[in-house]
Amino acid sequence: MDQHDDINGQMVECPKCASRMARYTHGGISVDRCPTCAGLWLDALELERLIDTPAEAREFDRGSSASPRRADTRKAISCPRDKSPMVAMSDARQPHVSYEKCTVCGGVFLDAGELRDLAEFTLVERIRSMLG
Ligand SMILES: [Zn+2]
Ligand SMILES: [Zn+2]
Repeated sequence: MDQHDDINGQMVECPKCASRMARYTHGGISVDRCPTCAGLWLDALELERLIDTPAEAREFDRGSSASPRRADTRKAISCPRDKSPMVAMSDARQPHVSYEKCTVCGGVFLDAGELRDLAEFTLVERIRSMLG
């Protein structure tokens, strides 16, 4: 069948293990989660929104922020939407969290546990700043 439907449609393929990702919607945000490796595909701006809402992040991310990132590889991966090569990014506040970002559409791929890790760190920072 025509593969072009997938690019603009609902279904994306996991860039790491090529499983069909399933779409989850919660709190007005939709993300795609891989049923095999539990990696998450987030469209541009979804990551920013989820980092600020740890409760939502936990809904989507079934991994643990404490679990080692065995799924992390140095292998180059391609954007599931536009097939552009994705670049490895490190979070400025949490250099141990690395994820892949597409420079064309702005989508990001997070391994299981990484979204949770990013969001929990943000929450801790916020509490610290409230305590002064
Ligand atoms: Zn996967
Ligand atoms: Zn892309």
